[in-house]
Amino acid sequence: MAVLPRPSARDLWQTNRTIKLQAHAHQQSTPLPRRICPQLSGHPPPFETREAALVDANRCLYCYDAPCTKSCPTGIDIPKFIKQITTGNIKGSAHTIFQSNIMGGGCSRVCPVEKLCEGACVYNLMEEDPIPIARLQRYSTEPAIRQHWPLFQRKEPTGKKWRSSAQAPPASAAPTCWRGQAWT
Ligand code: SF4
Repeated sequence: MAVLPRPSARDLWQTNRTIKLQAHAHQQSTPLPRRICPQLSGHPPPFETREAALVDANRCLYCYDAPCTKSCPTGIDIPKFIKQITTGNIKGSAHTIFQSNIMGGGCSRVCPVEKLCEGACVYNLMEEDPIPIARLQRYSTEPAIRQHWPLFQRKEPTGKKWRSSAQAPPASAAPTCWRGQAWT
């Protein structure tokens, strides 16, 4: 049986270095948000065109007692914001989302929607693709965040103070939500 020659120390060093360089190049070509949190890597992908968003939004049946809304931990009125998209009212749609969940933009990227709203969509019962709620939510909230749409107006300060004892998203969102009580 032929005995393979043992690689020299230099060969091993060269192979090791090549692997490290390839890994570094891959990391550098990965956008920063994806490096920090793979779930932010564009999940779900944005719609390529406005028409594509409208096609999916128009599939919504606007269910009474919508199971998607019932399964949303923040209770976003999903049929309402989808309906607003179909009528071209993207600002209203973003307002509907942020009114229930001030972190609606981030949640559209990281929520396990297949277990929540999209998992509850009635289309699943018909063995069809559910409404891509997260994509539609991203479609509404992204321009609102990027373009700083003034969706809410601040009212007079209440004089109350807030002190957060945790860094978890619900805790950091709480001051905004509570102040929202004083917003129009
Ligand atoms: S369950 Fe599906 S079809 Fe019904 S309102 Fe929600 S997203 Fe629309």
